[in-house]
Amino acid sequence: MSSPLPAPEDLSRAIKERAQALGFELVGVAPAVAPETFAHFEAWLARCFAGEMTYLERRREAYSHPEHVLPSVRSVVMLGMVYGFSPDDRTRDRSPLSPPPIEGPQRGRIAAYAQGTVDYHDLIRGRLKQLAAAVHALAPEARTRGVVDTAPLLERDFARLAGLGWFGKNTLLINKQLGSGLFLAALLTDLELAPDARHDTSHCGSCTRCLDVCPTGALPEPYQLDATRCISYLTIEHRDRPIAESLRAGVGEWMFGCDLCQTVCPWNTKAPLGTVPELQPDEALTGRSLKEWLQLTPDQFQTQFKGTPLSRPGWSGLLRNACIVAGNLGATETIPELQQLAGHADLVVQESAQWALKQISH
Ligand code: SF4
Repeated sequence: MSSPLPAPEDLSRAIKERAQALGFELVGVAPAVAPETFAHFEAWLARCFAGEMTYLERRREAYSHPEHVLPSVRSVVMLGMVYGFSPDDRTRDRSPLSPPPIEGPQRGRIAAYAQGTVDYHDLIRGRLKQLAAAVHALAPEARTRGVVDTAPLLERDFARLAGLGWFGKNTLLINKQLGSGLFLAALLTDLELAPDARHDTSHCGSCTRCLDVCPTGALPEPYQLDATRCISYLTIEHRDRPIAESLRAGVGEWMFGCDLCQTVCPWNTKAPLGTVPELQPDEALTGRSLKEWLQLTPDQFQTQFKGTPLSRPGWSGLLRNACIVAGNLGATETIPELQQLAGHADLVVQESAQWALKQISH
C-alpha cells in the first residue's frame, strides 16, 4: 500500500524550496484552469500579428487549457529565472539621442537572453527534470511535465495567476523586484497543490516608454505586440527572407533579438543581473566585430553556434542581419566583406549586402 500524500500546502512548500535551490528566483503555484487571456491570444492571431510563426495558429486550440499539455493536470508550478540587462545597455538605451561612444570596431548587438554560452532551453530543461524528480520523490505516482517555450501553454497568464508579476504595456511579465529579464518555465502536475494569490495589480501607470522607444512601431498600442514589426522577430524568426526595406533602419545595431522595450522600462532600472554562470555574457560573442560576423563561414557557424540560441536564424540569417547592421552603422571597415557577400549564392544575403554598400556610400 502506498503511503498517503503530504497535504497540498506541504507539497507546495517543498516544491518551492527545491525550485529555489535549483536557481529559480521566482516560483509560484497556479491552478490548472483555462487561461484568462486565451481570447486575447485568439484576437492577436486574427490580426495576423504572429507573422510566420504559424505553429501558434496550428496549435491554437491546445492553448485553451493546460490539459492539452498534460492530461489530468491540476496544478501549474510557474518558475522564473533572472537573466537581466547590463547597466551599460540600460544607460545607453535610455539616452538614444546621445549614446556614449563605443570604443573599438563596430559591433552588432545581441539580446541579453542569448549572450551566454548555452541555450537557456537546454539549461532550464535540465533543471525542470531535477524539479520533477523532487516531486516524484514526494509523490511517486504523480504525473509531471516540464515546459520551457516548447509546449502550447500561455506561460505569462499562469505566471500572473501564480503571483509572479503583471503584464507590462510591452506585453512582458514584470516583477517588482526582479524586472522583466526573466526566463519563464512551468512544471505541470496532476497533484493538487496549494495555489498562490494572483497578481492583481498593474504598475505601468501612465508610463509609455516601451511604446515610444520601439523604432519599428511593434507596440502599436499598450499590451499589443505586432510581431511582424518586432526586431526580435525580424532578426530571428523571419528566416530565409529579406527584411522589409522600410524596417531596416529601425533594426539599428541589433544583430540578434532586441531588448529596447525592456532596457528603457523603469522596472528594470534596479533589477538584478542573472547568476547562472552559463548565461553570463560571453565576451567572444558580445565583443565580436561586424567584420568578423560578415566573415562567418558555415563551418564556424556550426561549431560556434550549434546548441545556442544564435543557431535559430541560420548561417545566412546571421549574415543578412550583419549586412543590415553594417549598412545602418555606415561601417566603412566592412566594405571588403560586403563586396564579397554582394555576389553571395544566397539571394537574401546578396541583396542585403548590396543594400548595405549603398547605405554606406550615401
Ligand atoms: Fe510599463 Fe513603462 Fe515598463 Fe512599458 S516601459 S512595461 S509602460 S513600466
